[in-house]
Amino acid sequence: MKYLKTVQLIVLIIGIVIVYHLIFNPDIGIHLLWNILIPIAPALLVVATGLWRNICPIASISLFPRHMGFSKKIKLSTLQVDKLNLIGIIILFLIVPLRHALFNTDGFATALLLISLSCTAFVLSLFFDWKSAWCSGLCPIYPVEKLYGINNKISFPNAHCDKCYNCVSPCPDSTSNISRDTSKNIYKKLSSLFLIGGLPGFIYGWFQIPDYYQIPNISQLIVIYKVPMLWSLLTMVVFLVLKKFIQEKTLIAIFAASAVSCYYWFRIPALFGFGIFSEDGMLIDLTHVLPVWSIQIAVYLTSVFFFWWIVFSKQKKVSWMIRPVYGRYEKNIYSNK
Ligand code: SF4
Repeated sequence: MKYLKTVQLIVLIIGIVIVYHLIFNPDIGIHLLWNILIPIAPALLVVATGLWRNICPIASISLFPRHMGFSKKIKLSTLQVDKLNLIGIIILFLIVPLRHALFNTDGFATALLLISLSCTAFVLSLFFDWKSAWCSGLCPIYPVEKLYGINNKISFPNAHCDKCYNCVSPCPDSTSNISRDTSKNIYKKLSSLFLIGGLPGFIYGWFQIPDYYQIPNISQLIVIYKVPMLWSLLTMVVFLVLKKFIQEKTLIAIFAASAVSCYYWFRIPALFGFGIFSEDGMLIDLTHVLPVWSIQIAVYLTSVFFFWWIVFSKQKKVSWMIRPVYGRYEKNIYSNK
């Protein structure tokens, strides 16, 4: 557990360093965030979701009021959490296309985005208990964690919750196969359709658009949203059709593997200069060093790995984290339902 606390602190410091560079040395900050940290994140969400949820720097900021004892610890109902999850997905689909228009090339705007997300997480945690409002509620990455982390194999100690106060039910960190939570209100149904059905198309469409190095005009801005949204609509339809023929559990796994594979299918070539739009998202130009076929082999192997891990490998039925012992409040604190 102690090692996780240390890693938590190190990653928080890295986050602060990245924000510093985004403001004062934007080229370095953009490389650190978009071309190193973010490309690692999806793979980490697949193989060690619990590790990421323990060390995410915005989670650490969010849980600071709770650790320091000045959160009001208000409890949210399951329905309220489901509503927050849906809003988180909408925020994700609104922010990610803006990377082409702004964040991929503007360090200061990206720093403002990260600071705004951190402030939102912090303020929510001033009022609501543990992870209910941010880490398992409004965080736009949480739905992706839930999708990519469906075939979890490693359970980490929970480095944030010293005791469990049932802040959300079911707790995504402590429940195995959380993605297959079967409660089906309208918010949950929409969240599943948008994220599980829509994510592979959204990612494919996103990679078909170049970065703009100055604020794009309105028609470019429309294209930035239109292309990923149309592709996402297409995969949502495919998802709905396949749902009639394929067992839901298997279908979700196939869509999760497709989404993460699609990401690396485009992102690995782009990192090394082999992308569709030459310099977009390039970490280092290896076009004169590596043959094209080596990159092709890398993306094929990556896809094979994700399909094996998510779809074909044996379910271990372990939660992302080990549930801590239950704690008890002196009195129950519930918000209005
Ligand atoms: S372990 Fe308990 S307190 Fe911690 S996030 Fe899960 S439900 Fe909330």
